Amino acid sequence: PQDLEIQNLTKKFDAFTAVDDVSFSVPAGSFFSILGPSGCGKTTIMRMVAGFIDPTSGDIRIKGRSVLDTPPNKRPVNMVFQHLALFPMMNIAENIGYGLRRKGVAKDEITRKVGEVLERIGLPDIGQRKVDELSGGQKQRVAIARCMVLEPDVLLLDEPLGALDLKLREHMKVELKTLQAAFDTTFVYITHDQSEALVMSDQIAVMNHGRFEQVGTGQELYYRPQSAFVAGFVGDSNRWRGKVTRAKAGQLQIITEAGLTMTGNNHRRDLSVGDAADIYVRPEAIRISRSADDLAQFENKMSGTVASLLFNGAASRLILKTESGEEIEVTLPQSGEFAGVGRGDTLHFGWSGEQAN
Ligand code: ADP
Ligand code: MG
Repeated sequence: PQDLEIQNLTKKFDAFTAVDDVSFSVPAGSFFSILGPSGCGKTTIMRMVAGFIDPTSGDIRIKGRSVLDTPPNKRPVNMVFQHLALFPMMNIAENIGYGLRRKGVAKDEITRKVGEVLERIGLPDIGQRKVDELSGGQKQRVAIARCMVLEPDVLLLDEPLGALDLKLREHMKVELKTLQAAFDTTFVYITHDQSEALVMSDQIAVMNHGRFEQVGTGQELYYRPQSAFVAGFVGDSNRWRGKVTRAKAGQLQIITEAGLTMTGNNHRRDLSVGDAADIYVRPEAIRISRSADDLAQFENKMSGTVASLLFNGAASRLILKTESGEEIEVTLPQSGEFAGVGRGDTLHFGWSGEQAN
């Protein structure tokens, strides 16, 4: 069953099209993210789903029924904003019970439901505390509890981790995914941060200039990007610009601007010989060696000198500079074999065409 179905949704502000013919559906109980750069139209989609603004055209269905004629407060959706908007004058229990009180739910019932939801977010004892006595992560959980106590079919989250510091954000990624599973409710999450989307989502829609570029699992987007935008926006990549010299169903060969021949997967099938095309290779797909012989099995081989070493623990990187002046980013292997590598050393590197897009 689909909890949320968006059909050909478009929003124009005068002549400017902020959301351009977007369609997607979100299965019940799943975590769906919309990932895209600032200004691409994410919040505008959310505001239409929540009912704060009307679409120019298209339909929004929740549990099979169009909600376009339903006012915001009657829609079975709820929204968590970036600035959580907890009420500082109320204690935590009052904050969480606010929506229920407005609905006229009986006092005992509110106390019971608030207790249940506090239990569910793993903070059973904080009901009497004040908002400013909570940590950033606790406030985040309370903001979600305040929505979930109303038992929405769909929870919308608009960049809720934006205001947190890096360490807490890392922690909250895992936490949000856990909360979503605990409530077994459909979450639609918007973010410009690819790592948030990759960690939490069952499905991700990559958005650019009001349109969806690709919808898929994190792995599909990462390993099979279907557009240059997706390849560049989701994860880091080395990119070579070139022209197609051979196009088969599964494989593409290009010649780069510097005259190098390279092969990669051909996911886009609409390319033919002579077309401009880019090849993207993930830093971790590149093998490096001091000897060219070790790389004999790869279709794509080059050499370069070490321009810099970027130590970052498990994600340490090397930047290699080729003779033609290109800079290639390579993930440093964890074997320790390259412990002695220094700036200016010459290294050989290669990758399989299977691992390039
Ligand atoms: P995002 O959330 O992805 O950062 P938004 O959905 O907030 O992007 O905005 C998308 C585009 O629509 C932006 O260019 C923004 O300036 C424009 N926009 C949003 N709301 C309005 C509005 N009420 N009137 C005119 N333009 C708007
Ligand atoms: Mg926004």
